[in-house]
Amino acid sequence: MSPHLADTHLADTQRPAFRFAPSPNGPLHLGHALSALIGFERAQAVGGRFLVRIEDIDAGRTRDDHVDAILRDLAWLGMAWEEPVLRQSTRFHAYDAAARRLLDDDLLYPCFANRSQINAVIANCPNPRDPDGAPMFPAVLRRLSRADAADRVARGEPHALRLDMPRAVATVRETLNGAPLTFTEISNEGASQSQTARPERWGDVVIVRKETPASYHLAVVVDDAFQGITHVTRGQDLFAATDIHRLLQVLLGLPEPVYHHHRLIVGPDGQKLSKSAGAGGLADLQAAGLTPAGIRARIAL
Ligand code: GLU
Repeated sequence: MSPHLADTHLADTQRPAFRFAPSPNGPLHLGHALSALIGFERAQAVGGRFLVRIEDIDAGRTRDDHVDAILRDLAWLGMAWEEPVLRQSTRFHAYDAAARRLLDDDLLYPCFANRSQINAVIANCPNPRDPDGAPMFPAVLRRLSRADAADRVARGEPHALRLDMPRAVATVRETLNGAPLTFTEISNEGASQSQTARPERWGDVVIVRKETPASYHLAVVVDDAFQGITHVTRGQDLFAATDIHRLLQVLLGLPEPVYHHHRLIVGPDGQKLSKSAGAGGLADLQAAGLTPAGIRARIAL
């Protein structure tokens, strides 16, 4: 390689890295197209890397034909990504190691309560809501005595692991020497703005699910770090979840990416498109004669 090329071709570890991280539980729709295209184009604009990660920790909802269709749709839209595509279902050992570290630091506790027990407590005593509008985990169900919890775990009773949020927030405050927990949000126009993260408004979130040895929050921070992601591009609906992600990054000693939470595409009912609501998939639009340029026009890109 000529010295000139060597100068301009940065090693992978020095190049900005962007990712698109769909969950393969349905076909991609226009909202996904927007998310993927924004990440891809921003990566291209700065000579960065573009990675695709399949968020398939939920075995019951994952279908391989959806994974194939997702990659087909992305290629059809004109995107290229680095191989191999990372599948989170191959990464449980890494989530387990991260959860163990949090457990060793006494930041997680076993939770045996099931949905109906939690709902019964909430019905009797209205609870504050988290930023997604769900009731926070009720205080009366928080940490059992250590001996009791250890005994039930030893007996093999199914349980989730929840973050002890007050303890986690105090630990992070100490780690940051009292400085606020923040993240950098990049606007549409490319301007950086510091945002204060307020993870306490989520309460004791689940970090390891009862039926799956991970959770979205844990897997996303572990893998963004593993893949060297420097720029997280995703929908505005995940803006508040960034509070939890920043908290976990500090607790686990992981690097801090910058974030761009983009506008959402809404359907005729004004609600954000979702697979579960049966939003028309990209493949349907393609079959109906839309071109990639037509898709871009639809999402005003
Ligand atoms: N897998 C998530 C989804 O499909 C996105 C996660 C993220 O970008 O952080 O909604």
